[in-house]
Order: sequence, then C-alpha cells, then structure tokens
Amino acid sequence: MANDYYATLGVRRDASPDEIKKAYRRLARELHPDVNPDPETQERFKEITQAYEVLSDPKKREMYDLGVDPFASAASGGGGGAGPFGGAGFPFSDIMDAFFGTASSRGPRTRARRGRNATLRVELDLAETAFGTTRELTIDTAVVCATCEGSGCAPGTQPETCDTCMGRGEVQQVQRSFLGQVMTSRPCPRCGGFGSVIRTPCPECSGDGRVRTRRTVKVKIPAGVENGIHIQLAGEGEVGPGGGPPGDLFLEIVEKPHPIFEREGDDLHCTVQIPMTAAALGTTVTIDTLDGTEEVDIRPGTQSGQVITLYGRGVRHLNESGRGDLIIHVNVETPTKLDDEQEELLRRLAKLRGEERPPGKFAPGQRSVFSRLRDVFNQ
Ligand SMILES: [Zn+2]
Ligand SMILES: [Zn+2]
Repeated sequence: MANDYYATLGVRRDASPDEIKKAYRRLARELHPDVNPDPETQERFKEITQAYEVLSDPKKREMYDLGVDPFASAASGGGGGAGPFGGAGFPFSDIMDAFFGTASSRGPRTRARRGRNATLRVELDLAETAFGTTRELTIDTAVVCATCEGSGCAPGTQPETCDTCMGRGEVQQVQRSFLGQVMTSRPCPRCGGFGSVIRTPCPECSGDGRVRTRRTVKVKIPAGVENGIHIQLAGEGEVGPGGGPPGDLFLEIVEKPHPIFEREGDDLHCTVQIPMTAAALGTTVTIDTLDGTEEVDIRPGTQSGQVITLYGRGVRHLNESGRGDLIIHVNVETPTKLDDEQEELLRRLAKLRGEERPPGKFAPGQRSVFSRLRDVFNQ
C-alpha cells in the first residue's frame, strides 16, 4: 500500500483510538502550518492529517486494515481533485477546530446574524386563560429591508472585497513564542471580519439590511395558560442584521384578577353568602360560572365554611384534556338587627331545640348604654 498511515503517525497497528488521537495531536502541534509554514512541513502535515482521517474513523480504519486506502479509492472514484485538500468534502477545519479550538475563525464571517428575541406582555382575563383565545398583537420589530433585500447594499451595488485582508476576514501577525515563530490571526479591523466592505450602503436601512416597523401577528393562546407563563413563537422575533434569520417572540401571560373567582392551579374558588335560615332549611343558589349561570343545591343543615365542588367547571388543563374544578365556599350569615318579632321567634326556636343560653352582656333586653349607642350608629 502506498501510504502506511500507522507509520506516519508513529503508532502500532493495534493502537487504541485514544493513542491515535494523542499521536496526531502531538504531531499536529509540531507541524501546523501556522507554526511552521515551510512547504516541506506543510506536506508532512497533510500526510499526518490524512492518516488521522483514516485511522480515527472506525469504518475507514477497518477498510484500510483490509488493504483498501479510503483516500486512494475516493480519488479514483470521485471527480478530479478529490484528494484530502482538493475536495470540498474533507472536514479539515473540523479537525482543526476539534484540536485547537480555532472555532472556525478561518475565513470571513457572514454579515447575516440571527435576530434578537422579543418579549411581549399579553393581558388576558380569566375566561381567556381558561379556554384559550386568539389575539392580534401589534409589535414593534425589525423586518428585512425591502430596498436591499437584507444585503445592506444600495440597489445595484455589492459588497467589495476588503483590500486590507483581501477578503479573508482576518489579518495575521507573527509572534515569537517558545514554539518559535507563531502566526496568529485576528479579525480584520477594516472590514470587521466580513472580508468585504459595503461602500454604498442602502439608503433605506443604512446598511443594516433591516428596517424597524410595526407588525401585526395573530397568535393562538392555548387554554390553561397562567400568569407568568411564556409562550414561544419561533421565528416571530426581529430579523437579524444582514438578512439574518429572525429570533423568537415570547409572550408573557399576565392574568387579570377576576372579581369573583380566585384561581389556584386549574381550580377556581368563590364564596357564596347564605342566610342562616337558608343554610338550615336548604336552598338553591345561582352561581355565575365560566360556562354561564348554574343552579347549585345547598343541603339543609349546611355549615359555614363547607365547600361544594362543581367538577370540571374550572380552567382547562394546559396541553391535556380535562378541566379543573369550581370550588364554592359557603359562608353562613348570622342575622343582625332583629326586630322584636324576629327575636321572639328565635327565642322560641331556641327553646324548642333546648338551646336556651344565659343572655350575654349585649343581648337585647339587657342593653348597655354602649350597645344602644352602637345600634344608633349602625342604622
Ligand atoms: Zn436596505
Ligand atoms: Zn478586511
């Protein structure tokens, strides 16, 4: 076989993937073109990289061990120049990134960047959060500039290649270090790393590629959302500079307090006041629910603080079927300001039930000056 990849990396044929990686890393540091730019070293660097490409990939390594050089076969099978550095498919920069963390600083960076996310507060009342709703929202946002279609160039013009970095987007510097002369690169200060400059910016957007505007979005808010929840609308945020993709729009739900119901998860709570007599005798009350009015039976003998649950009359569960409950708290009202006849009736009732108690300090008939005064004020 033409190339002995094991020998190139200086490893045994049974070397583990880790040993291969270490060997390549050690050699690559030594032979990297930025460290040692002479042609012979570069040639050697290509060789070790090719060897690593084969031996680090279990499939290619197996193929190679069987006597087939994946590079040779790719070169004969593919189009011309499919060698390691001629073809576009070779993940050279991937390998470099993996090892040196160069984070694809190679080549100019694109002007297009992702747009920012935006957050919008949406006030909803209880019925809207309970059942979901559709809202038309007006947002201040950035959209692609129609004049330049996001390029940032005045119509009929194009970005020109930067003459400081010759379009590479980075400039190189030679520094001395313990490794010898080291070439380091940094983004080109002239073009900001884009590799090109816009000489005649679009007059509409001043070269940003987008313009600010007001836009209306129709959004569907699902049932069951609650205060503080964020709904993500992918791609509904601002578009990015240079025609970049849009960010996301987040809706922050603000639930307005309800005059009757208090929400607890998907359950709703409310209170009804019932006169003592109705609580004792039983009655029917009409409750306003989210689904309209409902007649609710109060059993005879209902106590203050007792609860009545209307199952499934609460808020719809978010992203699942079913609803919470409506929980009615009964509050029994003790009558006040009894007239003589009412007082007499209650005394009779107490007597019949064997519930007579010694009169208190404030009982009618034993009125203190203070309680009489209070009655005057309460009228
Ligand atoms: Zn424009
Ligand atoms: Zn430049």
